[in-house]
Amino acid sequence: MNQLKYRVLKETFGYDSFRPGQEQLIDSILAGRDVLGVMPTGAGKSICYQLPAILLPGVTLVISPLISLMRDQVMALRQYGISAAYINSTLSAQEYHMVMNDAARGRIRLLYAAPERLEHPEFLALLQSLPLALLCVDEAHCISQWGHDFRPSYLRIAKVIASLPRRPVIAAFTATATRRVREDIVSALRLNHPERVVNSFDRPNLFFEIRHPKDKMNALMAFLRTQEGKSGIVYCSTRKNVQSVTEELQAHEFSAVRYHAGLPPEERRAAQNAFSCDEAPIIVATNAFGMGINKSNVSFVVHYNMPRDMESYYQEAGRAGRDGSPAHCLLLYQASDVSTHRFLIDQPPENGEIDPNLWLQLRAKNHERLEQMVSYCYTADCLRGYVLRYFGESAPDFCGNCSSCAAGSERKDITIEAQKILSCVYRMRQNYGESLVISVLRGAKSQRIFDLHFEQLSTYGIMKEYSARELTTMIAYLKQQGYLAATAGEYPVLRLTGRSREILFEKKSLSMRVRRKEPEIVRFREAAQSVDPGLFQQLQALRAQIARRKSVPAFVIFSNATLEDMCRRHPHSMEEMREVSGIGSAKLDAYGQQFLEEIRKYEQK
Ligand code: ADP
Ligand code: ZN
Repeated sequence: MNQLKYRVLKETFGYDSFRPGQEQLIDSILAGRDVLGVMPTGAGKSICYQLPAILLPGVTLVISPLISLMRDQVMALRQYGISAAYINSTLSAQEYHMVMNDAARGRIRLLYAAPERLEHPEFLALLQSLPLALLCVDEAHCISQWGHDFRPSYLRIAKVIASLPRRPVIAAFTATATRRVREDIVSALRLNHPERVVNSFDRPNLFFEIRHPKDKMNALMAFLRTQEGKSGIVYCSTRKNVQSVTEELQAHEFSAVRYHAGLPPEERRAAQNAFSCDEAPIIVATNAFGMGINKSNVSFVVHYNMPRDMESYYQEAGRAGRDGSPAHCLLLYQASDVSTHRFLIDQPPENGEIDPNLWLQLRAKNHERLEQMVSYCYTADCLRGYVLRYFGESAPDFCGNCSSCAAGSERKDITIEAQKILSCVYRMRQNYGESLVISVLRGAKSQRIFDLHFEQLSTYGIMKEYSARELTTMIAYLKQQGYLAATAGEYPVLRLTGRSREILFEKKSLSMRVRRKEPEIVRFREAAQSVDPGLFQQLQALRAQIARRKSVPAFVIFSNATLEDMCRRHPHSMEEMREVSGIGSAKLDAYGQQFLEEIRKYEQK
């Protein structure tokens, strides 16, 4: 097997070497051992089970919650010359029977299915009869109630495994997992002494930026103008926002399509296809889009609304730059997004699906997660560092590739400020929300303040010289450091904590990083690469043309990284073409000649 795996890596997938973690996972699976792979989006999880699926005798079943992902993966596998199919609710009855038939006859190596499928007796009967070698659980965090994306149907997986005549190797993968969720995955799937690989969550090619613009639409358009010729996603929190942002963009001649769960399936499919094939460079969507979208040449992800937690944020932002090319992740912050999320977190679950006590615990946890998301939006610390520490990794203070690092920051002593804020919270009897505390500190003249007689407090107006934004930043920092707390709920109230006295009475000094300047929209840092843009564009056009003809997404033909490597190497023969990263035998045979010709044509121009 050992030599074989390198051959398959090169022959089928066209890669020369494994990325970190891949080989260890693949070796374990091939040796018959369960695995748990925790890797960030774009790290290359798919190959970890696709390569063993090719080598192992029998069928590999992949459980995946994401319909769009299944489709893309299956199309991509077919391009590699691997027989693959999926079963989900989008298939017609006829298609469904064809796939079931093919699977029963051993014509399918990789079969993808949604977890809900495990409730269908017919499908279960099929599984009983198949020689299952490997069962792969993608997005495995969905099994954990402590994850941010719990799906009850995942809990069936273990039962189904137990009912199989022969237990296959179980491989679980996720891009998001705290320690707790990781343990849940291992126990809920009953993994047997799994080999665990937990990769760093760092995505060095992503540039992170946060802005607090007065006019988000203007900020969005200004950003998009810097991204001409590139493709990306604009995430909005509601269907209504998707609607209005798309219309506004179209009115300003941006070529954008919209996507949300309320649209008819045909429109959704068309939008996704147009985006995948690079026909519509911009897609405006709710988080229903691209749950696991496989397009590898996404150059930017803009969050028009702040997501509800860092897990969602990083997963969505992580859809940029999966092929390793530099990409830009911009978050446009507005305080109103926070109250929307608070409201949503407090909505009780429908028809008692979750135990009420558990729900209360989850709600508290969700509020806590939201607070950490907000504090990310206010930090002057390195954004990459913040993200990595959130996911339990250590990180340096300076990455040089985020808006905080680009703006530069300095440490400022805020002991006095902290004392003023905490004592104001105290004097307001720890009974009011952040915005009223800020109004009192700034000496606002509002009816509410007069009604409550807060203008008589000794802390009224003692921080006049600070903007509301500066105060919010400091409060976020105090919360993050545990000197202040907010109660859970839609209208959180600021309270002191056990540690507040350190600042108020014990003369503890406190300092915080503050930004030196508000950065201009930072220009996306071009890759340090010598790719001829003319040739790249021409190859991209050829790729789009082939993709259209075959009705598959463009990145399924070749990723941007592959096109870039082609531009760098200028292959003149099929032999040289074979050296390009991402070109295995099947793709060489299918497209090698056409791309060689295109390169020749370009050179003769
Ligand atoms: P994930 O599922 O972890 O988000 P993918 O499996 O989609 O990531 O892989 C992301 C990209 O990296 C794909 O374009 C894939 O072909 C590429 N890739 C995976 N493994 C390697 C490798 N060993 N060398 C080069 N590219 C790779
Ligand atoms: Zn940084």
